[in-house]
Amino acid sequence: MTVSVSTECVDALLPVVGAGLPVPLVTGTAVPYANLDCAASAPALRAVAELVATALPYYASVHRGAGYASQVSTALLENSRACVGRFLGAREEDVVVFTRNTTDALNLLAHCVPAGGSVLYLDIEHHANLLPWQRRGDVVLEAAPTLRETLTDLEAALAATPTALVAVTGASNVTGQVLPIAELAEITHRHGARIAVDAAQLAPHRRVSLRESGVDYLALSGHKLYAPYGAGVLVGRRDWLDEAPAYLAGGGAVREVGLAGTDWAPAPARHEGGTPNVLGAATLARACEELATVGGAALSAHEEALRQRLLAGLATLPEVKVLRIWAQEDERAEGAEREDCIGVVSFTVTGYHAGWLAAYLSAEHGIGVRDGRFCAHPLLARLGLGADGAVRASFGVGSSSADVDRLVQALRTLLTEGA
Ligand code: PLP
Repeated sequence: MTVSVSTECVDALLPVVGAGLPVPLVTGTAVPYANLDCAASAPALRAVAELVATALPYYASVHRGAGYASQVSTALLENSRACVGRFLGAREEDVVVFTRNTTDALNLLAHCVPAGGSVLYLDIEHHANLLPWQRRGDVVLEAAPTLRETLTDLEAALAATPTALVAVTGASNVTGQVLPIAELAEITHRHGARIAVDAAQLAPHRRVSLRESGVDYLALSGHKLYAPYGAGVLVGRRDWLDEAPAYLAGGGAVREVGLAGTDWAPAPARHEGGTPNVLGAATLARACEELATVGGAALSAHEEALRQRLLAGLATLPEVKVLRIWAQEDERAEGAEREDCIGVVSFTVTGYHAGWLAAYLSAEHGIGVRDGRFCAHPLLARLGLGADGAVRASFGVGSSSADVDRLVQALRTLLTEGA
């Protein structure tokens, strides 16, 4: 069985399952769900759901069975690996390792950094790209007031300290701000280090290519890329992955086992011990194929329109403050860079606890948002926010301007009429 490409493209950009499902309100009525929480987990594409139904009858052991179903499952897994590699612009020498999610992929990479190699990371990261390095005692750099100054500081830190790897997010899960990964790769390589990009937020919203950006490693999760939970990938340079001990010691990770010693398989098998998540890998690959049919420009144009609509609506509410890591430059000034953001907007509302607001939006208006500190405690602390955190609205391919308008209207009603 091969993973086939569909060019069907209806609804907004790509059809998702569950769009507009009725959700109950406290009043006892039901309204269509406005899912503005795509950055946490994006709804599955319809093509992805269809693949599950097609693949399920062939559920069988991979790489270990001669039966027809085993052959189909094995081919599905390996075709999916190749498909994800193509989607991410993998080079000849790159390996695609299937993991459980981004967190798992970054922990795997932390396990593979050569002994003695130091890693540099920023304090704006999601915990998945912070704790694996903190635990190793690596070097954290505080982001400067502007993105440009942050790049300058990063370059100075690289010049001052021998570094094996820079680990950086592609886009903030709190503010949506996108980092210039190709430029970061160029700076990093100039100082003899490699670069890993946490693409959990970037990959669902922009086309990311290892080959074109020069990035050495990418990590991402299927459930943020319109596929189900339970599968992610680490894609990148083979040598570190082949030289590191097996991440999960067990069946499938070996060539030959003797009681006196074991001959471990090269990557990716080396780090994929145990029965793999074939459906997770296949659905992730299917989502990649579907996104490729739409293209990065259409994805970002759709989200940018929604983001601008939301920002314009929020700007009419003086109690609302939108979070930013870096101040926005005046884009009209000479030499100013255009700010790039994915469809993520976090904000606070004076006088309201973020947790209460999120519960109110759900119960009274059928709007799903995220609240809290978004697994980015150091960043929220630097933004002056305590444990209450903020509210985050985030969009994806199935999001519409009607969803955004409902959110703005719900906040306006609250602020003018009270709860
Ligand atoms: N990195 C970023 C930027 C994220 O937003 C997230 C999840 O929110 C992760 C990593 C972790 O993803 P997962 O929970 O799928 O491992």
